[in-house]
Amino acid sequence: MTGITILKNHVLFHEGMNVKWNEPRPSIDGIPLSKFADLVLRWSKYSGYLLRTQKTGMRKSSDHDGSPFEDFYDIYFNVTTDDYTESADPYISITFHDTLDDDYDYVGMARVSRRATTAYKWGDKGEMCEKRFKIYRAEIKRKEGDAEIWFRDELAPLQGILDDLDQTTRTLRSWADSGLSMRVVCTKLFCRSYNSAIIGSDQLLLDAGEGLSLDDFNQKMRCKVCGARSPILSVV
Ligand SMILES: [Zn+2]
Repeated sequence: MTGITILKNHVLFHEGMNVKWNEPRPSIDGIPLSKFADLVLRWSKYSGYLLRTQKTGMRKSSDHDGSPFEDFYDIYFNVTTDDYTESADPYISITFHDTLDDDYDYVGMARVSRRATTAYKWGDKGEMCEKRFKIYRAEIKRKEGDAEIWFRDELAPLQGILDDLDQTTRTLRSWADSGLSMRVVCTKLFCRSYNSAIIGSDQLLLDAGEGLSLDDFNQKMRCKVCGARSPILSVV
């Protein structure tokens, strides 16, 4: 197993089953931590497409029991089954911590206990609050071969694909012309998993032909179940 851990101001390299930390080195040229945050933030819009065409999937998990609160995003390559972890080589794990700072990457929901201590579980479920999260570290692991070289070869194409998708989905017309279908999911947390629809590019072409912008199109749609407007649009 070889690996790299990228932190804010430096990088750690490790090798072998017994993780042996080498001397910290300055960050890898051209790969600041912010690139990983960017990857995570753009991912959800394209997750279905990336899984289908690149066999690359992302899973999110959280640990909000201790301090700081942590959100983890694991990127799996060569995904061939529903169980991503079976093919977890190589993989990237990106960790965000909650922050009070104005410099943050996204706002997420966390269940905040009313009790300050974490020494005991009080059975206190707390309440859902908005929390700011900022990227803390990215770890890249590979069973064989050099993790850094692999990553350098892998990240650039992946970012290129995301850049192309950003361009493709910028307008309703370009989205329709690309031939990619659109998944429409309700924004309401408890509605979304039960109420998504797929719109084919032929239908998108018709709407684009009527001169609708992507914004118009989005605002025109209304959830059949709860009535919410402006759903989340993603590429299938
Ligand atoms: Zn809904």
